Order: sequence, then C-alpha cells, then structure tokens
Amino acid sequence: MRAVRLVQLGKPLEDIEIALPEIGPSEVLVRVAACGICHSDVHYRENISMIDSLPMTLGHEVTGRVETTGEEVHHVSPNDRVYVHYLVSCGRCDFCLRGYEQFCIKGQMIGKHRDGGYAEFIAVPGRNVFVLPDEIPFEVGAIMMCSSATAFHALNKARLKCDDTIAIFGFGGLGFSALQLARAFGCREVYVVDINPAKLASIATLGGVAIDATAADPVDQIREATGGKGVDVSIELVGSAITMGQAIRCLGILGRAALVGLTAESMSVLPYTELINKEAEIIGVSDHLAAELPLLMQLACSGKLSFPPGTLRSVGLDAAQINAALDAVAKSTDHIRTVIVPATSAL
Ligand SMILES: [Zn+2]
Ligand SMILES: [Zn+2]
Repeated sequence: MRAVRLVQLGKPLEDIEIALPEIGPSEVLVRVAACGICHSDVHYRENISMIDSLPMTLGHEVTGRVETTGEEVHHVSPNDRVYVHYLVSCGRCDFCLRGYEQFCIKGQMIGKHRDGGYAEFIAVPGRNVFVLPDEIPFEVGAIMMCSSATAFHALNKARLKCDDTIAIFGFGGLGFSALQLARAFGCREVYVVDINPAKLASIATLGGVAIDATAADPVDQIREATGGKGVDVSIELVGSAITMGQAIRCLGILGRAALVGLTAESMSVLPYTELINKEAEIIGVSDHLAAELPLLMQLACSGKLSFPPGTLRSVGLDAAQINAALDAVAKSTDHIRTVIVPATSAL
C-alpha cells in the first residue's frame, strides 16, 4: 500500500510503498477515508516533538471504512464507517482501569509511536474504533479527533455547566471548537481572547464575545464585561505564561482555570488573592478520553459543533502535497484545516 512517511527527522515526508499491515485477533484494518494534517505533525517532521523510531507514518486524525476485523472484534463489521481514537492503551494498567487511559503506562499515540493515517490503510486495536454517524462526513470526523476532542475534554475537566460564563484564551483550532462547545453546554457568555483581527472578527458569528488583547488588559476587559465578578471557567489554549496568568486572574469566586496550551515557561500565582480567597482552581488538561468521543459526535450530528464549508480543504495521499500543507500549517493564522483524502478511499 501507499504511505507517506517520516524517514529522516527535519526532512520532507516521503512516498513509500509498504506491505499492507497485518492485524491481530483484537485489531481492525481500516481503509483510510480522511486523515487530518495537524500542527503536531509539523513538530514531528521538524523534530520539535521527538519521534523515537523511524520510518514512521504520521497522522492521528483518522476516519475510514472497516476493511477487515480480527476474530475477537464484534462491534464493527467490514464496510462500516468509523472514526479512530488516537491513543492506544493497554486497558489493564492502573490508569486504564481507573478510566484515565491517557496516562496508560504502555500508551502509544497513533502517528507518533505507531503507524498513523497518512496511508491507504491503518491497523488499530478494535477498542480504538467507533462507528461514525452517517450525518458526519469523513473529513469532518477526522479533524474532530484531535482539537475538538481535546477542547471538549478541557470543558469537562473544568466542570463547565449550563449558565456558567467562560473565557477562552486563543482562537485557533481548539478555540474554534471550544467556543461552539461552550455554547452547546448552555453557557451564558463566552468571551474569546485573541490578538488576530481576522479571528476576532469571526468570533461574534459563532456567538462569542471578542476580547482584543491588544486593545487593553484582557483581564480588565473581562472583569468589566462581567460587572466585576469574573468568569466561572477559563480555558488557556495558547501555551504562554502570560495568558495562563490572565486565565487565572479573570476567574470569579469558585472559578476554574483549565490549562491546555503547552509551554516550558514558569508562571507565578498570588496564592491568597488569586486562588485561596476565591476557592479558585487551576486544572491541567492532557488529551482526551475515548469515552468522550460519542457525545462529541452527537453534538456534531445536532449541528452544535460544525465546520462550515470553506473551513476544510483536501489534498491527496501524496508527499509533495502533504509537505506543502505542513509548511502552510506551520505558518497558518486561519481556521482552514487540511485533510488527506486518499484516491483509494472509495467514499
Ligand atoms: Zn492533532
Ligand atoms: Zn494502560
């Protein structure tokens, strides 16, 4: 089969013919219909995030049709439309048994630790494969597997509830989903902080209130908009100590700040005024859980999470096109996502 693989760190991906993957009794062979090109894939190619074993087929945002199943797999059958949860876990370690499979001691990420979806086929454990509702196009299902799922997990971790107010810091891929999901949760006001004029202009169309961080301190703007109270929940998606500090300082009484963005910077907090006095909480967020995906799909089925035409474009399963798309992702400031659609996908 054809695969587009990372062969040498820091070099363009390459078109390679490899053997069709063999599946074990508990695995499923999926014919890839769509695979999202993610910012993390740029980091793998550029060796900013480490990949230990090469060559590796990248791609962790995968939908497709079941080609064959191992004899122990009963919940899906050949030709079923499916989506693939990208974290492969053992199901038996302490973390898996407690329902926190993202900390599995043997956990592997598809497209990083094992071959991913930049290929005609992918072999994955049956536990990672779920039926994709007919209403959801393969391309949309694919891009929901990463940023939408992690935004959803962040809202769950922050215990967001109906009638809460929320501030979202950063209106990239995660923020785009987080805003829509916060509305779906029934939030009263959704403040979205960014600095990019085009992004700020699009926030109102999705029902959010744009906060321009270049105009004035976003914490002051949020306090003013909430009558001095601050918000119930804040979500930090940028990955900077400055916005993390703002996400904490804009909280009201009993507020919860969920930190999702990655940074190596340290951050200072005033324990009494910013946390203790308000019983505020700072919550770390890492990835998401397979159990969250079916509800996320339902929100997409009901139109509460949508990716309007113009926010998705596709390329073929071709190294030149994919490398060009990765170059564009590295520089992108818009919400247009690129999805690989192999010619063999036979949608
Ligand atoms: Zn991703
Ligand atoms: Zn485990």
